[in-house]
Amino acid sequence: MSLKPKKSLGQHFLRDQNILRKITMAVGAGKNERVIEIGPGEGALTEWLLQAFDDVLAIEVDGRAVDMLGERFPDLKVRHGDILKENWDDVLAAGKGNVVVGNIPYYITSPILFKIMDAGPVFRKAVLLMQKEVAERLVAGPGTKAYGILSVQAQLLGEVEYLFDVSRHVFFPKPKVESAVIEFRPSQKELPVHLADLKTVVRTSFNQRRKMLSNSLKQVLKQQNKETIDFDLNLRPDQLMPEEFITLTTKIFGNKS
Ligand code: SAH
Repeated sequence: MSLKPKKSLGQHFLRDQNILRKITMAVGAGKNERVIEIGPGEGALTEWLLQAFDDVLAIEVDGRAVDMLGERFPDLKVRHGDILKENWDDVLAAGKGNVVVGNIPYYITSPILFKIMDAGPVFRKAVLLMQKEVAERLVAGPGTKAYGILSVQAQLLGEVEYLFDVSRHVFFPKPKVESAVIEFRPSQKELPVHLADLKTVVRTSFNQRRKMLSNSLKQVLKQQNKETIDFDLNLRPDQLMPEEFITLTTKIFGNKS
């Protein structure tokens, strides 16, 4: 049984048992945990997950794959839907730990990442295969080209670990770019500021990454009636540590509550 890959759905199926084993080991879910797989496709990874863990739920948008998975794996819970439209409450197991895993489709990597990061500590962790370039952005630090919105948000909302590289040759069809697997562990601590305010500051700052903060944030400062604030606005966004964006957000919008 195999599917004709649909490019429009970012279908690149994994064909390497060693990589599948390494991803399964990284998931490392316990007895009382649910594993939620994003984009199971033909079920290459799903097969490993079902062997290793008791409770696996998969979300897949391609109806052909959903039918195939249902026949192939009677123990699998499959939802036919778009991950970006799913409500986490409908897929999380209440009273259990939840771990997210997936070889996620390239065309919506960032929206999926933000959906996972924004959900906060409802997950214990996420293990995700993505373009290497995006994986590098997640772990990048100040002063590097890869450092940006994704880095700051990921590092403030949790801990990111770059696990290992995955060659483009282990997929069918082969993608144009190299891939990597990362692990994201959401922080259990609440942010001192509103996430929406933090996002406004981070996104507005990096939208013009070569400009000084005083310039990029002009409108935001004006809207908040902040003529001057106690923060060095002559800096460029890529000179700030992630935590400094919290300080900056506090100075502009104040703390939560
Ligand atoms: N896990 C499989 C397939 C990965 S390819 C493997 O490693 O072999 C990416 C998968 O995500 C495809 O099966 C594709 O149909 C699915 N997909 C694409 N867009 C999706 C969406 N919006 N919601 C859920 N799944 C999606």
